[in-house]
Amino acid sequence: MDNRWRDADAADFADDLLQLRVYTSRLLGQDPDLVLHGGGNTSVKINQRNFFSETESLLYVKGSGWDLATIEAAGFPAVKMDVLLKMAQLEHLNDTDMVRLQRTAMIDPAAPNPSVEAILHALIPFTFVDHTHADAVVTLSNTPDGEQILRELYGERMLIFPYVMPGFTLARDIYQRTRDIDWQQCDGIILLHHGVFTFADDARQSYERMIEIVAKAEACIKDKGAMFESDAAIEVPDSEPDILALAAIRRSVSRIRERASLCRLAQDPLSLSFSRQKNLAHIAGQGPLTPDHVIRTKRIPALLNEDPVAAIEGFARAYGYYFEKNNTAGLTCLNPAPCWAVWPGTGTLKFSSTARELGIIDDINRHTMKSILLAEQLGGWCALPEKDIFELEYWELEQAKLKKDKQAAGLQGKIALVTGAASGIGKACVEALLAQGAVVAALDIDPAIETLFAQEAVVGRVCDVTDSAQIQSALRALVTHFGGLDILVSNAGTFPLSARIEELDEDSWDSSISINLTSHQRMLSACIPFLKLGVDPAVVFIASKNVPAPGPGASSYSVAKAGMTQLARVAALELAGDGIRVNTLHPDAVFDTAIWTDEVLEKRARHYGLSVQEYKTKNLLKTEVRSGDVAGLVCALAGSLFARTTGAQIPVDGGNDRVI
Ligand code: ZN
Repeated sequence: MDNRWRDADAADFADDLLQLRVYTSRLLGQDPDLVLHGGGNTSVKINQRNFFSETESLLYVKGSGWDLATIEAAGFPAVKMDVLLKMAQLEHLNDTDMVRLQRTAMIDPAAPNPSVEAILHALIPFTFVDHTHADAVVTLSNTPDGEQILRELYGERMLIFPYVMPGFTLARDIYQRTRDIDWQQCDGIILLHHGVFTFADDARQSYERMIEIVAKAEACIKDKGAMFESDAAIEVPDSEPDILALAAIRRSVSRIRERASLCRLAQDPLSLSFSRQKNLAHIAGQGPLTPDHVIRTKRIPALLNEDPVAAIEGFARAYGYYFEKNNTAGLTCLNPAPCWAVWPGTGTLKFSSTARELGIIDDINRHTMKSILLAEQLGGWCALPEKDIFELEYWELEQAKLKKDKQAAGLQGKIALVTGAASGIGKACVEALLAQGAVVAALDIDPAIETLFAQEAVVGRVCDVTDSAQIQSALRALVTHFGGLDILVSNAGTFPLSARIEELDEDSWDSSISINLTSHQRMLSACIPFLKLGVDPAVVFIASKNVPAPGPGASSYSVAKAGMTQLARVAALELAGDGIRVNTLHPDAVFDTAIWTDEVLEKRARHYGLSVQEYKTKNLLKTEVRSGDVAGLVCALAGSLFARTTGAQIPVDGGNDRVI
């Protein structure tokens, strides 16, 4: 546990309490062993003049939706202390009303909702209050002798309270427990199975107490001989994972969730080690590290077996029983699909509709698995009882969020593969698919593809689509990373220099046929087993206006694209039984692509006796066709709008009298 306080950095805001609060909050947020993804909260109490020149006592507390790692002053709504303290004295208050009351006591109605732990922060009579869900403390707490170990470790200056549901119940509980205490005799509060509070009138002291407390817990775990095996001690998997099984698991989860879901396999040493534990059913079947993780991970993972799809279905049934058993008040059941799974001996899987959420679940998982493995060496892992976890999972504030849940973007959770993705139509397709919520494997022969789309939702990979081995390895990488394949945009192509048939050399012909035709057959063939396991799978071929209306000098290109169109028609016939739609676009005169160099453009314009501008809009609608227009239509063909269309050929050419 590093103390990240730096005098030089803190000096910049020495006399600004709120800025100091921002500074030490970020120090906490930077350490994933303290807080993860929006977890934890901090506050500072400031006396401030209002518009009427009266001095008000305010609590600036972390606002919901902000992450401690990146929080700014605007992330701390100010709430009137007197109202918060009055609220603590109420006998009963539901959390919806608590949130409403807190809002009425804010000095800026446009600020975010204050943390649900705001009342608790107000009750602690120190300027700075820091709260984390530190792994080491919670790990110790989640063992059979946890409470006793913590009491011995910290002595009388640490208040240690049993777990209580966060929100008003917890605030009320702490109010009653601390009414008569001498706060000067306390260094902090540990809430069992939940986390740690530290406090002081000085920002640095409050922060450093947190670091000391957590460092002490880490040292205690080490002293007791609990340790995580070093990475080198864990062997790599004996065999490559069955990626078709992975795609089937992902489809099963998507069906249960009733929306397309991604799936990511992890086979790093921690995931492998966890998946090889002998008492997996016992340790994985107890509950999360701290209850608020349940919102992201559900209470427990699915445990796969020789029939992973049946295991996923079994999880969903069991989740239904869990809901029925604990539902007391007309609650809305969440989708019963798992958020993660353990595949014994193979690794772990995460499920979500967005790449971002996959990353969050992955982070939470790692901390949970590590804590479980450590706690097992400290007498055994014991999470909170099922009913406490359920209570948080079905918290009224979480249920309210469900009702407000926005309609997901059109292609959210869909997995696409685009070839020729580094420029022109292919690049535009990647961008359009991303904008609609899909994740994409972007393939290109140009090495720039690896860094072109630097974001979680894209895997950029060098792939020569004329090489079957490279196609296979790209598919393996895609399925391992995102879980399957739903949309193939077969776009890679080349436009040979214009040459009449009698002048055309053999290599130029062979090359065009290989890239513009044969590679598309190889790619489609390799993708079909995965598309069969896809969610509403669709294939879009990017052919050309040259198919219905060829031009002189482009025989090798036109013949290859005509062959590709015929391939698409046969594929539409062969794959309809598996629900896979295959459609073809015929773009024309899309000039913002790599194949249209200025040289080619000028030559073609001259050939027709036109200026370049006239040539660009040489169509019935007198409009330019851009790669983004083609990409928009690709998304439409891959989406629900064309759910009942297969085998179609659609021009994207501004209207052409030879095609019509
Ligand atoms: Zn908390």
